[in-house]
Amino acid sequence: MILYSAGLSALTQNQLNTLAVQAQTQIQGQLPNYIPLLAQANRDWFAVQVRDNSSRILSVGDVTLSFPLMSAIKPFVLLCLLEQLGAEVVFSGVGMEPSDEPYHSLKQLQADRGKPRNPMLNSGAIALASLLPGKDALSRCETLCQWLNQRGKCHLFLDEAMLSSVRSLPNERNWAIANLLAESGYLDNVETALDTYNYICCLSGTVRDLACLAQLLVQNSSSTLPENRRTVNALMMTCGLYQASSRFAVEVGVPTKSGVSGVVVSVIPSQGAIACYSPVLDGAGNSKAGLFLVQQLARAFDLSVFR
Ligand code: GLN
Repeated sequence: MILYSAGLSALTQNQLNTLAVQAQTQIQGQLPNYIPLLAQANRDWFAVQVRDNSSRILSVGDVTLSFPLMSAIKPFVLLCLLEQLGAEVVFSGVGMEPSDEPYHSLKQLQADRGKPRNPMLNSGAIALASLLPGKDALSRCETLCQWLNQRGKCHLFLDEAMLSSVRSLPNERNWAIANLLAESGYLDNVETALDTYNYICCLSGTVRDLACLAQLLVQNSSSTLPENRRTVNALMMTCGLYQASSRFAVEVGVPTKSGVSGVVVSVIPSQGAIACYSPVLDGAGNSKAGLFLVQQLARAFDLSVFR
């Protein structure tokens, strides 16, 4: 392994090129089969962008590729709701404990008697989707999108073709999760909550958009309260990669969130953000090349928050 000097600001374009080539050797694995459009992704699609605090932007791959954020929207829904409703309201509807179960686990929700364990699981995000303001799924999604675009200076948009694809096959697990949430009093309207969840998972953008958005979590700014950033980063660290979260915290040590489209977004507190897209997934539903790249960057530049 190559060891460079410490800190994201030491990363050069050539070093990122080298690490990106290594990451792209990791693309043996699966594409999700339950969303037809994601199953049709090209395994070779690849893009990464690193933005640091001195406004340096380094990119490799096709930065014009856009992709749905899927579960990578979850930390940003949490941030938006913490800002708008406050921690007390948000955490009365969702827990903050990690889980060793997969992202769509019904078993975890049953074991917890219908209270979603954390906001990074589907159960938690479906419950949070029901707290977004708006009369229907579309207006809730638009309000969230505007809020994020304004603060993150990015250009997320709703990918309608992806939304049709998500809706084309019944997602029985998410239905069962939403029904149990409703029975347990954690949401009012199953259809609207699930529909909102599906819409917000189809908010899409490029690695630039995602890296800009993640910068909201990097350092103090006028847009967000420090305690809300800390909360979101801590939950990304402990829960962001589902059952792979604790191992990743030990081996890599940066708050990271994945999405089943192959997106990985990492926050390097006080330093910058990394957004990567590569559609091939590991068994936990996390991008293989994306996680590999973040791991290599964190090791080479000593990025772990645990010092
Ligand atoms: N929309 C997807 C689902 O509910 C998101 C999951 C993910 O990205 N892990 O299955």
